[in-house]
Amino acid sequence: MKAMRRRFPYWLLARRSVQLAVLAAFMYELPGLGRVVTGNLASSTWFGQLQLTDPFVALQALLAGQALGAAALIGALVVAVAYAALGGRIYCAWICPINLLTDLAHWLRTRLGVRRHVPVSRHVRYGVLAAAVCASAAGSTLAWEIVNPITLLQRELMFGVSSGSWLLVVLFLFDLLYSRRGWCGHLCPVGAFYALLGRFGRLQVGASGMGERSASVRACPEPQVLAPIVSGQAEAVRSGECMRCGACMDANPSAGLGMRVRIVARPRIPPA
Ligand code: SF4
Repeated sequence: MKAMRRRFPYWLLARRSVQLAVLAAFMYELPGLGRVVTGNLASSTWFGQLQLTDPFVALQALLAGQALGAAALIGALVVAVAYAALGGRIYCAWICPINLLTDLAHWLRTRLGVRRHVPVSRHVRYGVLAAAVCASAAGSTLAWEIVNPITLLQRELMFGVSSGSWLLVVLFLFDLLYSRRGWCGHLCPVGAFYALLGRFGRLQVGASGMGERSASVRACPEPQVLAPIVSGQAEAVRSGECMRCGACMDANPSAGLGMRVRIVARPRIPPA
């Protein structure tokens, strides 16, 4: 059998660069520019002018009956439109710091040969999302923000606050020892929110030809999204659960997969 050609993981390098640059922007001042951004990923102000708000946080706040200022509402709208236009869970793969932790757990799991995998339905995250939304409305509070590991991790990195360390350790061990890609792929309501928001995004993984795609499916954190391409029923990944992470392309550059902006959706390929 012909050995599969591997290449430098460009997509992984690009993602890590963006994730770390965003984190660093919150933590450090730039020489000559000072602090580029203040706040956190839930609500931030860039260059002292541009306020950006996480639309999931804004939704919880509105349901909780909290008044949001015009700047916060516009900031949430800007972020929501950007993610909706790009599509999928691009936030999870390119921005979220928890992805660094869960990717590390997955890498370690693979290296250690951990086989235990207790399957958790990928639909559970939508249930957690519904519960968080309902709890915000019923409890007049931003329910998910009380335990949101994204906020906890960022607070730990920025201020050295360790009160949420136990949750981050549990989450890491859950992915490492209990369930493959358990947190991001099955439980996190933030990912569920962005999967719904980015359902019709125009940045998509497209396929050309009929390349060998088993390595891409194995590398994909959401392998179900590649099924229509592998079966030849679609020429692009349309699922909002695709993270736009590029792992499928890093895994096998000969798979005929590429990230493309598709303004107009082509009709589905009819089954043979
Ligand atoms: S299809 Fe590719 S880009 Fe989408 S989640 Fe899977 S590996 Fe990432």
